[in-house]
Amino acid sequence: MEQGLSIFWMRRDLRLEDNHGLYEALAQESSVLVLFIFDPGILDKLPPKDARVQFIWQELKAIKRKLNAKGSDLLLYYDDPLAAWPEIINTYKPKSVYVNRDYEPKALERDRAVYALLKEASIPFRGFKDQVVFEKHEVVKDNGDPYVVYTPYMKRYKSILKREEHLKSYPSEQQTNYHSAADLPFITLEEMGFEAFDFDYPNRVANAAIISKYHEQRDIPSIPGTSRLSLHLRFGTISIRSLMRLAQRSNEKYFNELIWRDFYQQVLYHFPHSAINSFRPQYDRIEWEKNETHFRAWCEGKTGYPLVDAGMRELNASGFMHNRVRMVVASFLTKHLLLDWRWGEAYFAEKLLDYDAASNVGGWQWAAGSGVDAAPYFRVFNPELQLKKFDEELIYVKKWVKEYGTPHYPQPIVDHKMARERALIRYKSVLKPD
Ligand code: FAD
Repeated sequence: MEQGLSIFWMRRDLRLEDNHGLYEALAQESSVLVLFIFDPGILDKLPPKDARVQFIWQELKAIKRKLNAKGSDLLLYYDDPLAAWPEIINTYKPKSVYVNRDYEPKALERDRAVYALLKEASIPFRGFKDQVVFEKHEVVKDNGDPYVVYTPYMKRYKSILKREEHLKSYPSEQQTNYHSAADLPFITLEEMGFEAFDFDYPNRVANAAIISKYHEQRDIPSIPGTSRLSLHLRFGTISIRSLMRLAQRSNEKYFNELIWRDFYQQVLYHFPHSAINSFRPQYDRIEWEKNETHFRAWCEGKTGYPLVDAGMRELNASGFMHNRVRMVVASFLTKHLLLDWRWGEAYFAEKLLDYDAASNVGGWQWAAGSGVDAAPYFRVFNPELQLKKFDEELIYVKKWVKEYGTPHYPQPIVDHKMARERALIRYKSVLKPD
């Protein structure tokens, strides 16, 4: 074994280009081996045909090819990271380990445990910021507290942002200090218990024409008016800094949406309990309905409310749902059906290609009124009015709900007026001061 090898551990940063941690590893070390670990603890909970696992696997295969072209290879493990690391330390005796930081509670726990293992072996573990522009304590109030309201966070964010410092590129693609390696084993999807299948993934290219008109078209679900880059941002197959640079020069509204992403990341970092509990504790006193039939109807897009049904069917068929419609279906679940936001959050987590704990919990708690900077509890979206406003010609609805307008389309499972009043009474009963 060549002496002095260092490892770059890839996680949600699946690219060799403009990758901060990888750049630092290649710049500071003479021999860098790229590692990825498939964790059965996560994979075993997923169905055999999982578009996200297949996406990761395909991306890794492409990365392996690129590394081969550079005379190196990808080191791939299929194991619990805490079991894999002692073996990696033993086999490769790395001089140092580099990563990009991950802020989700479970990832932080994993990284602390790996840090302890590496420390015991006197191996430095170096973390870098890559998946966000500002992290943890970088955008905080004057007294150091984290922001829990978006607008002042966004204003502070913009006031400290320096393009040449925070949005600069880390040209890892120009570095060459890779460890010489060849023919390292590459696990198949089948060996991990998955089946390959045809799936049309969103393009990774930022469409400048769409982004320049984003502020006008972003709320219309029937047109491609949003970037559709969420999957790529989730897995780091695109660099947030490059996208921010484009957003900064072409569309402020789009730029602001990308700031929401950083905002929710820092909220989850500072308030990890919000992944499970309501950010505002009094919302956990709401007596949610337990109606499984209503929940199934919502999941299957059979509520009798066309915009809700079209959204859920889009999600089930494509792993994506337009943001406007995500807000409508989430409001419908938590207000009209009075079902616990955690039920909806878990269903989205199972289905969304772009599932990201911070943004998903943020979006759901926003809709339920229980989160940071959330919609007030008395704001109950009227799904019919939303339809009129954002899909008046029924283009989106007819695309996803083929039987719409025929006797096969279900009647509404709840009456809007009744449901709205019931929600207001139920929410108000626990939100009044003790
Ligand atoms: P664009 O409109 O083109 O926006 C560009 C990027 O900005 C997105 O890709 C995303 O990374 C970020 N962004 C935009 N809006 C938001 C937002 N409100 N919060 C955080 N980031 C945002 N987004 C996820 O990435 N993962 C999730 O699991 C997720 N769950 C959601 C659940 C609910 C109930 C709601 C209301 C929203 C959720 N969102 C989530 C936010 C948003 O709906 C998606 O990011 C967006 O629809 C993705 O499509 P796009 O890439 O075309 O977005």
